[in-house]
Amino acid sequence: MVDIKSITEELNKSVFRRLSEVADSVGVPCYVVGGYVRDIILGRKSKDIDILVVGSGIDVASRYASTLGKGASLAVFRNFGTAQVKYRGLEVEFVGARKESYSHDSRKPVVEDGTLEDDLNRRDFTINDIAVCLNSDRFGEVSDPFGGISDIEKGIIRTPLDPDTTFSDDPLRMMRAVRFASQLQFEIEGKTLAAISRNASRLKIISGERIIDELNKIMASPRPSVGLRLMERTGLLQLVLPELTALKGVESIDGRGHKDNFLHTLAVLDKVAEKSNNLWLRWGALLHDIGKAVVKRYDKRTGWTFHNHNFVGAKMVSSLFRRLKLPMGDEMKYVRKMVDLHMRPIALVEDEVTDSAVRRLLFDAGKDIDDLMLLCEADITSKNREKVERFLGNFALVRKKLVDIEEKDRIREFQPPVSGEEIMRIFGLPPSKPVGLIKDAIKEAILDGIIPNSYPEAYGYMLRSAAELGLKPVEAAQTETPSDNK
Ligand code: ATP
Ligand code: MG
Repeated sequence: MVDIKSITEELNKSVFRRLSEVADSVGVPCYVVGGYVRDIILGRKSKDIDILVVGSGIDVASRYASTLGKGASLAVFRNFGTAQVKYRGLEVEFVGARKESYSHDSRKPVVEDGTLEDDLNRRDFTINDIAVCLNSDRFGEVSDPFGGISDIEKGIIRTPLDPDTTFSDDPLRMMRAVRFASQLQFEIEGKTLAAISRNASRLKIISGERIIDELNKIMASPRPSVGLRLMERTGLLQLVLPELTALKGVESIDGRGHKDNFLHTLAVLDKVAEKSNNLWLRWGALLHDIGKAVVKRYDKRTGWTFHNHNFVGAKMVSSLFRRLKLPMGDEMKYVRKMVDLHMRPIALVEDEVTDSAVRRLLFDAGKDIDDLMLLCEADITSKNREKVERFLGNFALVRKKLVDIEEKDRIREFQPPVSGEEIMRIFGLPPSKPVGLIKDAIKEAILDGIIPNSYPEAYGYMLRSAAELGLKPVEAAQTETPSDNK
């Protein structure tokens, strides 16, 4: 017998006592089901409680909301026969037990009222298929028809019914299987995994939004490579992110090979995930080398090259984000920047760590410089320890220089010391090309270390650059160097 003490303890919470009274008063069988029960057994935090009602979920939800009084908000989705009650940060979802039958070309089933058994039969995995009764005469009674508790203990993901039918009916479940494996660090049972491979192409009937939800949960999991490898093995990755599967494999000419850039990418991603929960930095790691498949060349003298893969990769980011329905605003720009700049710290080490190169890196990376350095350090996946130590040592040097120069020149959140408006006013210019040229000249002079990042120096430099363009200040008084009070 499995120890389900955790469930009994959980049911002592006032929300379940209240739900029990409501279920009795409406006179219908009521159960806690799904992810919530799974997470109690796993000792994991769960956001929302799923309640299954053999009867009308909406009726039970309304009654429950009215017993809570003013602070509760009730949302009813008549089309789906579901309802949701929010109360003090707790979300409870109510659904009536149903029986589902699917047609081939849609994941929208024909739905009829059903029994508890029907409802458990339509669920995705045994670990999500445990119901605990809330009615007072059977309070705490566990229904576990498919051995879900034992699968949770063994860490196994398996469909309750024939996996081919389960996945063909609703192909999103394939992504969910992989997501749970990655999130919970569980294993997908052999037959279930084989069925995912067989049904992978059915994923095309699933909307992009649903797929990306699951993919982001994989990306947010402790070791995202677990999920991505499973996606690759089953053929799902080829459908969702062909740019990544294109990085797979090692080609060899004249006995010279290159590293497998897919495996390298996964290693970098996991290393970043160890250090940071930032989803977008993880995306940056996943995509940092996608340009490599495009620019790969073999040269008889130098061997394999991937020139400009960072630039080409960065150019691929926005269309990839658009296709995957990822956010096109700051998140996309940040990921694009990570891909674009990921070779810069290395190049800096290889050439010479000059102040102006460090200043330019600080300027281009801005507030994201620490994330970029983290990505670049994770990018060193060589097996040669001596090489790794040398690189990390050099990066430590770069980091130190970054701190020194930032302290001195404040480049990280660079604001032009003389604004465009001021330039226009001083020289009596309309918005025009010379204004940009002067502003740019000042910025370049600061980045090259010709002048420090300060207002009086920038002001003087502005006068000199303007003079070269044949421009003079409109009022002589303004040529005096003002004090540094900006
Ligand atoms: P999480 O909330 O962490 O994403 P969950 O298991 O609670 O995980 P939900 O999407 O909240 O997932 O769904 C609640 C329950 O509904 C699941 O535990 C499962 O029993 C069932 N379920 C959800 N989606 C499907 C599906 N596509 N096919 C079959 N059953 C599903
Ligand atoms: Mg849930």
